[in-house]
Amino acid sequence: MSASSKTSVRFWSGLRTIGGTVVTVQYEDAKIVFDFGAAYNPAANVLDGQVRLRQGALLHDYIRLGTLPGVDGLYEAEQLRGLSGIRPFDRERDARTAVFISHLHYDHMLGIGLIPEHIPVYMSRMSRRLYRRLHKIGEGVAGSRHRFQAMPGGLQPVRIGAIEVTALPVDHDILGACAFHIRTPDGTILYTGDLRFHGNHPEWTEAMMAKAKELGADILIIEGTMLNLPNDDGLPVDVKPADLAPSRELPEGWTREPDMPGLVANRLLAANGLALVNTAPRNVERLVSMAEAARQAGRMAVFEPESAYLLHTMTACRDFLVYESDTTSRLLAAGKAPGWLRKTAIRSVLINAAGVNRSPSRYLLQNTYGNLLELLDLDTSGGIYVHSDGVPLGSFDPTYGKLLAFLESLGLPFAAVRCSGHAPAENLKYIADMIDPPTLVPLHSFHPELLLPKSGVQLLPEYGRTYRLEGGRLL
Ligand SMILES: [Zn+2]
Ligand SMILES: [Zn+2]
Repeated sequence: MSASSKTSVRFWSGLRTIGGTVVTVQYEDAKIVFDFGAAYNPAANVLDGQVRLRQGALLHDYIRLGTLPGVDGLYEAEQLRGLSGIRPFDRERDARTAVFISHLHYDHMLGIGLIPEHIPVYMSRMSRRLYRRLHKIGEGVAGSRHRFQAMPGGLQPVRIGAIEVTALPVDHDILGACAFHIRTPDGTILYTGDLRFHGNHPEWTEAMMAKAKELGADILIIEGTMLNLPNDDGLPVDVKPADLAPSRELPEGWTREPDMPGLVANRLLAANGLALVNTAPRNVERLVSMAEAARQAGRMAVFEPESAYLLHTMTACRDFLVYESDTTSRLLAAGKAPGWLRKTAIRSVLINAAGVNRSPSRYLLQNTYGNLLELLDLDTSGGIYVHSDGVPLGSFDPTYGKLLAFLESLGLPFAAVRCSGHAPAENLKYIADMIDPPTLVPLHSFHPELLLPKSGVQLLPEYGRTYRLEGGRLL
């Protein structure tokens, strides 16, 4: 290790988990932190919605539970509540610290409400637009911090001391997702965030790769979600390093986002009664796909108000009705509805359970898991329940079995029509080979070791170690 490099890199979490990636890059007194979420592991997470969060002790509890890592200089002393071994935030010493968020999935941003307000939190302009709306509909993060900075577009970097960070949009199953190109006087790092080619915007991922080649990438930090994912939903299993050939194509059995409307419409055409769909509000493009699926099947989409609000304010899609639950109806009647809900109600045609029950086969009704009991008011005979990447996501979530059992008790057939947000292993290999960095760091994966570099070296970092960026390598 030579003293000539002043850039140090540390990996705090997310190396062998899906999400929870937290990495710091430091140059002199400037420090950036990228991504700040918690690993996605519903089977092991004690915070399952039944255990109450302690608002005043949230940060302390997250760190004790291993939900967030104990990064030095990033938390207010009082919030740490005496936790030892973590240096608290110091306004002078940490004046040049900034956090960067690649996209708005919880595994990349759960902790951003807990960062001191003196530390800027950057995200793409589109992510900030989306976040403001998610916050309104109760889909934001816990904590008090709600002012975030938008990164400039084009190739304009954000400068934190001598560190430059440029946002490069990528295709992922949420709007605003981007990779980060990071430059320090000692070299360049490309962090992909989460990405794929098989969404509505493969050209974004392509453009990111081209720009990364242009700007240089000594170190490529790449997500590896699909490197040997356990097969519980028909996804490929047991990719061996030797088998992993680079390919830009989507393997057999995978679904593209643009194919989703047609695939769901086929299911709807086969059903004689009410069609339900469980899809996440924050996947705004999927909501549009579902409105299109309904149209293709001669039905009308009916969205929950939260999703309808996002569609109204972020897309041109207006071809839907809005579901009015008893709770919504009472809030509106009592004049107690929040502004976003009032606006959504004014802009929309509302329909309640009785209205849907008058001719169930005319509708495709969104039902997110929290609203499961609405099904008890609906005529679901001859219907179908389409699972389209809402929560609970799959059998790795203990709640998933409960959902299936409940649907079975109603005699409601279940169909999963999914489209992954993550590139298959062959595509990851293609991306890594095309960028061909001197150092390849796969993470956000159960099996990062499976992604081998074309000509550089693979680095599987360890926690608690500080690496130095020098000559294209992390030492
Ligand atoms: Zn992720
Ligand atoms: Zn993601």
